[in-house]
Amino acid sequence: MSVATTAPVRLARARYVLPSASSELFEDGALAWADGKVLDVGRYDDVRTIHPEAECWSFPDHLILPGLINAHDHGRGLGTLQMGVSDGPLEVWLSGLFALRTLDPYLAALYDGVQLLASGITTTTHQHNPRDWRNLERELIETARGYSDAGIRACIGVPLMDQNTLSYIGSNAFLRRLPAALAAEVRQSELAAPLPDPHELIAVGLSLRERWQGDDRQWLCWGPVGPQWCSDRLLAAIREVCRKEPIHIHMAETRTQVAFGRKRYGTTLVYHLDRIGFLASDVTCAHCVWVSDDDIGLLAARDVKVAHNPSSNLRLHSGIAPVLKLSDCGVTMGIGLDGHALNDDQDMWSEMRLARALAFAPGILGRSLPAREMLAMATTGGAAIVKAPGNYLGAIAPFGVADFAAVRLDRVRGPYLDLRTDLIDTLLGRAKPIDVDTVVVSGEFSVRAGEPTRVARADIETRLRDLLLAPKSRAQEEREQLSTALIDYIVQLYRNW
Ligand SMILES: [Zn+2]
Repeated sequence: MSVATTAPVRLARARYVLPSASSELFEDGALAWADGKVLDVGRYDDVRTIHPEAECWSFPDHLILPGLINAHDHGRGLGTLQMGVSDGPLEVWLSGLFALRTLDPYLAALYDGVQLLASGITTTTHQHNPRDWRNLERELIETARGYSDAGIRACIGVPLMDQNTLSYIGSNAFLRRLPAALAAEVRQSELAAPLPDPHELIAVGLSLRERWQGDDRQWLCWGPVGPQWCSDRLLAAIREVCRKEPIHIHMAETRTQVAFGRKRYGTTLVYHLDRIGFLASDVTCAHCVWVSDDDIGLLAARDVKVAHNPSSNLRLHSGIAPVLKLSDCGVTMGIGLDGHALNDDQDMWSEMRLARALAFAPGILGRSLPAREMLAMATTGGAAIVKAPGNYLGAIAPFGVADFAAVRLDRVRGPYLDLRTDLIDTLLGRAKPIDVDTVVVSGEFSVRAGEPTRVARADIETRLRDLLLAPKSRAQEEREQLSTALIDYIVQLYRNW
């Protein structure tokens, strides 16, 4: 099938082309594109016959595959470990976030975008952590500009929450458990600042929906932060305003959160959200580490998607998500880095590898996820999660966007690769970001010869370094001390949950 166009046609020829995770692997393959859209894909001879005049880029020992999709992240730019917050149980780690130093949202997204592109990621999901709720819309616009300047698509989540800032029992109840002097200090600090009216947050979402209407480089996602941070009223209000946008919510990430569900709603968080009519095919639940078999059945029945974040789940002591069960029940899954890859490097290849290694059934009849299924999670699964408007992401196909990566095979193959070894299995088993040679987004090069084309990585790093080496303000130091002082009380609160 060929798509008619009057725009100049470009061609990429590669030793192998894999149009989608489930399709045939073309040896001496090619794809043709124009105006950001794929025209044809298949064997080079066939594609060349249709486009004899097209300018051609050659990838003689590479595999071209669809651009990867990062199904869950926060675009922090620098990892929380680098910013002074050690890994640990999620609820303890969250208290460290109370005092996280703020990075310029443009710079954070620019740097994150560049790092993600280096893995062959062409679309990312951004669930925003606000620096200042009063400035939310501006922060989100700057975030979108950062990703756009890096040359990556972004599904941008407006954060929505209206309860339980300091703990799952509510901020006031938590403050009453603290020694009076500490409670007074927290009350006076920004840690206990009231959340904005939910209507204001929804208004930000509506304004951005309007602003990004028809844009396929950035689009809105509703981002209720999690059932423990959102009242039923807020979730109902989101359902009301949501049209075609995706909804993205953290779900059952830790055992403590599941305990919160039992205490508060007398049931599981998944069941509760379904009971209030929130779950539908436009919802993605991130993490889902602690979901029961019944929960999984419900997620499948409602066609809810799951964003799987294996490294983050390990680093924040959450656990291992039941990925095989979710897969067996037919739940569509994507894979997300969550700013917490195992090597703290936003490496999608090792994330896929870890996800496969963790998703196995032990024993002689044990199985794991096939390489192509894992690749489907990172492409078509992610596409179902980000719901790009009018786009066809996750595969290289006529009428779809020209988003793809060319991976060098020399190091992946090494000095020898047995002919019996499946190439996709080898890719999932051995590829690293250093093997990603070229990344194309919307038909334009975002990475060439392993380097970003639009910005110099070293320049961004210099700007970040200069900003962060400036002395911390007194207020910042006080926030850091306060958040550290809260840790013992957080542990005490949840220890028997
Ligand atoms: Zn997250």
